[in-house]
Amino acid sequence: MKWFLKIILFFLIGLTLYYFLDPYEFRMPVKGAGKWSYNQHSFWAYPWGSSGHHKGVDIFQKKGTPVLSATKGVVVYKGVLSKGGNVVLVFGPRLRLHYYAHLDTIQVGYFTFLSAGDQIGTVGTTGNAKGKPPHLHYSITRLIPRLETKEEWEKRFYDNPIPLLNEAVNYK
Ligand SMILES: [Zn+2]
Repeated sequence: MKWFLKIILFFLIGLTLYYFLDPYEFRMPVKGAGKWSYNQHSFWAYPWGSSGHHKGVDIFQKKGTPVLSATKGVVVYKGVLSKGGNVVLVFGPRLRLHYYAHLDTIQVGYFTFLSAGDQIGTVGTTGNAKGKPPHLHYSITRLIPRLETKEEWEKRFYDNPIPLLNEAVNYK
């Protein structure tokens, strides 16, 4: 292999490791939210409407409150889904997908690179949150499931965001 190809390859592998395997900085994804803004037991709550289990956490705040990216990452989807309403999907460190739903407004474009704390939209009631108190539905999906547990298979593809939120609150 030519020496400059080796350098480019080395650089790309280094960047991938840095970006996707880096222990990630985590921020509270709703401005001004505290422990009173979400229920400690809402992750994997069952039954949960048409979703079966609740695959994330609901963070309640006034409509229009800024929604911030919990981690660094890149926007891989933004648009409208029937359940989620206005949603943003961010591909972040350690091969995690961060899903932000029921947004009132979306303020990022496709392939926007984000730092933790960058605004991506505002809290709303879109999708199946219509008629309910405004909140952000936030979930973390893993591309590689947890293998070291005896959990049901579906749950292995999700991280519980609540311990991360609790820590983000404590460090604020
Ligand atoms: Zn929810």
